Amino acid sequence: MLQSLTIELTKTKKQQPPADQLGFGNYYTDHMFIMDYEEGKGWHSPRIVPYQPIVLDPAAKVFHYGQTIFEGLKAYKTDDGRVLLFRPQKNFERMNRSNERLSVPELPVDDAIEALKQLLTVDQDWIPSAPGTSLYIRPFIIATQPQLGVAPSTHYYFMIIMSPVGAYYKEGVNPVKIFVESDYVRSVKGGVGEAKTAGNYAAGLKAQEVAKEKGYSQVLWLDGVHRKYIEEVGSMNVFFKIAGTVYTPALNGSILAGVTRGSIIELLKHWNIPVVERPITIEELYEADRNGQLEEAFGTGTAAVISPIGELNWKDDVLLINGGNTGELSKKLYDTLTGIQVGKLPDPLGWMVEATVVRA
Ligand SMILES: *Cc1c(COP(=O)(O)O)cnc(C)c1O
Repeated sequence: MLQSLTIELTKTKKQQPPADQLGFGNYYTDHMFIMDYEEGKGWHSPRIVPYQPIVLDPAAKVFHYGQTIFEGLKAYKTDDGRVLLFRPQKNFERMNRSNERLSVPELPVDDAIEALKQLLTVDQDWIPSAPGTSLYIRPFIIATQPQLGVAPSTHYYFMIIMSPVGAYYKEGVNPVKIFVESDYVRSVKGGVGEAKTAGNYAAGLKAQEVAKEKGYSQVLWLDGVHRKYIEEVGSMNVFFKIAGTVYTPALNGSILAGVTRGSIIELLKHWNIPVVERPITIEELYEADRNGQLEEAFGTGTAAVISPIGELNWKDDVLLINGGNTGELSKKLYDTLTGIQVGKLPDPLGWMVEATVVRA
């Protein structure tokens, strides 16, 4: 299919913002990838075009029934000018699991990665190289059929847009304060929490807003049935180091299977540090703290990579983790993972994929 990829280059290149003013998701590269789906015809007409608005019918299903999937991954520029992607096949495989859940047609993984590599080649000047910066890549699918019946769309767009992003931590890795959410829930087993679909994030905004008003940067989500089992932190997976062992909630049907989560587990195993995936209650976390065994806590995700947790507030019971400081293991994981991603450290588990393609 990608044999038919057409590339229309922009006539006017945008001015690129300075590396220290990037922030997250504020600027977009000169081009984007787009491909159509039509029932009976499949995915077709892959093309790279200048970054531009898209025109949709107001009745397009995505606006009404939320049939949409997204992904998030990053490209990095190495000191010797190579372009690296972190485990891109994992993202597109996950996209297909999300697609399956939302009755969206399957996307051919190899073609999606090839499209991304072509887009990266066209816009490679946009990959920032200052320490901590990267190019955030947002593949997504939207239902475009203009029809108000509640049924899977017959038409879709698959698109990839890219955004140069700044250093997540401007002054080193800093711990965040987290509010443990007891009223709102993000998802339940059998719902769409396992899928990277828009509704999950819209559903989480209210709790996030309330937590922010209370001075917390994110919420820790508990399970939707018992309000007892720990699920995720904001839109990150969560890990705890208790008496030398690292614990993370087992994937239970309402937790998103993070690529970073999986990579951290693999890395810990590679280092022979015990790591356990199992249900974890909020009570047992507070209990571990009372026993002096709760050593570290951190969130994991593509945007921040590792986000240490310095404080938890559960029903006004405030718990300080590692004195509110970044733990040794959190720091080591952050340094190792980011070092591998930018090509400064060896890649013992074979994660990085070279992205630039040579075109005739
Ligand atoms: C994207 C996401 C994560 C992190 O996944 P990564 O693949 O590590 O970026 C975790 N939880 C939620 C809810 C997410 O949307």
